[in-house]
Amino acid sequence: MAWEIVVGIETHTQLLTRSKMFSGAPNAFGAAPNMQASAVDIALPGTLPVANRAAIEHAIRFGLAVKGKISPRSVFARKNYFYPDLPKGYQISQYEIPIVQGGTVHFFSDKAEKSIRLTRAHLEEDAGKSLHENFKDMTGIDLNRAGTPLLEIVTEPELRGAKEAVAYARALHALVVWIGICDGNMQEGSFRCDANVSVRKTGDEKLGTRCEIKNLNSFRFMEQAIEYEARRQIEILEDGGSIQQQTRLYDPDRDETRSMRSKEDAQDYRYFPDPDLLPLVISEKDIDRIQSEMPELPSSRFKRYTDQLLLATSTASVLTSDKGLSDYFDRATESASTEIIRQTANWIAVSTNAKLNERGISIQQIPVPALQLRQLVERIVDGTISGKIAKEVDDAMWSGEGTPDAIIEKRGLKQISDSGAIEEIVDEVLAANGKQVEDYRAGKEKAFNSLVGQVMKRTQGKANPAQVNEVLRRKLAR
Ligand code: ADP
Ligand code: MG
Repeated sequence: MAWEIVVGIETHTQLLTRSKMFSGAPNAFGAAPNMQASAVDIALPGTLPVANRAAIEHAIRFGLAVKGKISPRSVFARKNYFYPDLPKGYQISQYEIPIVQGGTVHFFSDKAEKSIRLTRAHLEEDAGKSLHENFKDMTGIDLNRAGTPLLEIVTEPELRGAKEAVAYARALHALVVWIGICDGNMQEGSFRCDANVSVRKTGDEKLGTRCEIKNLNSFRFMEQAIEYEARRQIEILEDGGSIQQQTRLYDPDRDETRSMRSKEDAQDYRYFPDPDLLPLVISEKDIDRIQSEMPELPSSRFKRYTDQLLLATSTASVLTSDKGLSDYFDRATESASTEIIRQTANWIAVSTNAKLNERGISIQQIPVPALQLRQLVERIVDGTISGKIAKEVDDAMWSGEGTPDAIIEKRGLKQISDSGAIEEIVDEVLAANGKQVEDYRAGKEKAFNSLVGQVMKRTQGKANPAQVNEVLRRKLAR
C-alpha cells in the first residue's frame, strides 16, 4: 500500500534587530542570564510594550520577497498560557490579522523546481528559557530571550516527504539571511522549525491527522524526525490503529519522536487583541520605500544565471543558496567572456563550495579574493595550466601563497605546450613501453590511456593534455 507523507512547516525566524520586539533591551545572544531583560521583559506591573519599527520593517521586507500581501492594518493579540519562562502569562503575537498573508517560496528538490504557498507570516515575541543544567533539584529561568522579535512563517500543508520539507526549509533559510532579516545561526536558535506531519493513502483527498514535531534546529534532524514520524504513523495505521493529534519532540540520540503533550486548540489560548498596543497600520509609502531598498532576490539571480549566463540549473542553485557566494561569483566574472563565466561558476559551485564546507567557514572568510580566482580560471582557459594543475594552484592560494601567476611562476607549473618538447617525451615513452604500444595496435584502448599517463607522469602533469593525445595518436598510427 502506498502512503503519501504530508508536511507543513512553521518557522520561528529570529529577527535581526538591535533591540527587542516591545522593549529597548538589547537583542543579542550569549549574555549572562537575565542581564538583557528589561522591566518590560520581566513583566513588572505598570510597564507597557512599544512595537519595534525595525522588526516590523523586516516582516514587510519578507512579505515583499515572497510576494505575499502586506496587511494595511494588522493586530497584536495576547496568546494566554502559563509557563515559568513567560512572566506576563501571555505571549504577544498576531492571530486574526497577521502582517503578511499568503506568498510563495520557490526552491529545488530532487533537481525539480517546486513552489510552496505560505499561509501567513506574523510577528511575535519569544519567551525566556528554562535552565536545567547546574541547578541541583531546581530550574533556573533566564529571561534574556523574553521579548526577542520573531517572524513565524507558516506554510500550507503542501510539502511531500522529508527531503522536500528540508529543501523548503533550506531555501527559506537562505532567503531570510539573503534579505538581511535574520542571522540564520541555527545553533543559537535564530531559525527553528516545527514540522507538522501526517500520512494518507496515495490518492486520498482528505488529510490525515497530524503530529507536530517542535523545535527542529538542524536540517539533518528535521529530515530524520519527519522520516521517523511518518514511519511511526504508517505502522499504527497499518496495524488498524488511529493517530492521536499530538505535539512531539525529536530525540536525535535515539532517533525517535516522543509525545510531549496532546495538541492544544487555539481556543485554549483565549486569544484577544492586546489592549496595550494599537493596531499596526502600514502605509503604501512605507511599503514602496522598503521595496525600493530590496536587494536582487535569489530567484531573480537564479533566472539571470540560467537565462542570460546559461549556467546549469544545479550550478545556479548552488550559487544562489548564499548571497555572499553569489556576490563573489558576480565580482569574479564582471564583464568576463562566456567561457570564463562558465568555468568560474563551476569552480565556485564545486571546488570553492566544498572547501568552505570542509573548513566550516563562510564566503566572507575566504582567503582567495574573487579577482584571483578569476585569474586562475583565465590561466586554464588560455592554456597556461591544465585543470589538474589548477587544483594545485588553488590549494596554494588557499594557503596564502599569493596570486595564481606568482604561484605558477614560483612552482614552475606552466603547461608544456611546446610541441617539440612533447614529441621528445612521447618518443621516450613509446620506446620504453613496447608492450602497451603493441596492445594499442591490437585494439586495446586502455593501453592508450596508460601511455598518456606515462607522458603526464614524466612531465609532472604539466604537458598540455590535448597535445599529448594528438601527438600520441599520430605517432601510434604509423
Ligand atoms: P497550529 O499548529 O498553530 O495549530 P495550524 O492549524 O495553522 O496551526 O497549522 C500549522 C501547520 O500545520 C501549517 O503549516 C499547516 O500547513 C500544517 N498542517 C495542517 N494540517 C496538516 C496535516 N493534516 N498534515 C500536515 N500538516 C498539516
Ligand atoms: Mg503549530
